[in-house]
Amino acid sequence: SKIAQGLKKTRDNMAQQMDSLFKSFKKVDEELFEELEEILIMADVGMLTSERICGELRERVKKQKITDPEEVRGLLREIIAELLEGDQTLHLSSRPSIILVIGVNGVGKTTTIGKLANQLREEGKKVILAAGDTFRAAAGEQLQIWAERSKTEIVRHAEGADPAAVVFDAIAAAKARHADVVIVDTAGRLHNKKHLMDELAKISRVIKRELPDADEEVLLVLDATTGQNAVNQAREFKNAAGITGIVLTKLDGTAKGGVVISIMEELEVPVKYIGVGEQMDDLQPFDSAAFAKALFE
Ligand code: GDP
Repeated sequence: SKIAQGLKKTRDNMAQQMDSLFKSFKKVDEELFEELEEILIMADVGMLTSERICGELRERVKKQKITDPEEVRGLLREIIAELLEGDQTLHLSSRPSIILVIGVNGVGKTTTIGKLANQLREEGKKVILAAGDTFRAAAGEQLQIWAERSKTEIVRHAEGADPAAVVFDAIAAAKARHADVVIVDTAGRLHNKKHLMDELAKISRVIKRELPDADEEVLLVLDATTGQNAVNQAREFKNAAGITGIVLTKLDGTAKGGVVISIMEELEVPVKYIGVGEQMDDLQPFDSAAFAKALFE
């Protein structure tokens, strides 16, 4: 499957290690749990999450009186699949609805917006992009390129303009042209963190005022290759921005795919999409069952 391809590096690493672990043990003992925990940590599942998973695993093994390491593998897969369950769909019923896209520079925000715009257009939706990162001239130019590629309209102001004004205009355009979705790009870095959070809050206020009843998704884009650092970024943005979902990019380029588990367990925000390449169709809805399966096969 495509999800398995995108996860190739993670699987080559984690799945193979697990495979040899479960095959090398003849009985279920403490050493098995310890080695397993190490594998999870190495795959960027995170210290805390790995401990919790192994704790839960120990309990289930004890309760179910399991003695075969192969059965432990089955239980582990079950636990991970449970952790990955969440609301993975985008709720975009109102017309227009809004997708606010946030995250630090370089994580793949612009690329994700382009891919998402193209998918929505292919579903028959009329999409308008709002170039809300006015801090960097290059950001607007990049978004313009993706607007052309995805055949979607874009509302863009001059460099240094007020991002909230861009969003205001994009919403007005969406109303006038009966668009279905407005996707808002935002700055990934400003003079300081407070400034960035203030700007996001200002954009949110404009959205609330202009579209009080609209469906709104706030997607935080994170780069999987940064591993646990992505989890830290998620923590920083979480409280400020009312995130409804995560887009985890660059999974194709890393063995750190275990970070998905960490994000969902520690932050309780669902991963909704994964990026598995640089091309237009390399964005996939996150399928937790397929993901859990891919990690073990
Ligand atoms: P932004 O600064 O957050 O807007 O990041 P960009 O969208 O400009 O992406 C930064 C780089 O990451 C570009 O070279 C993209 O092609 C690349 N990129 C984005 N998503 C993915 C992905 O899922 N896989 C891979 N391999 N590269 C990606």
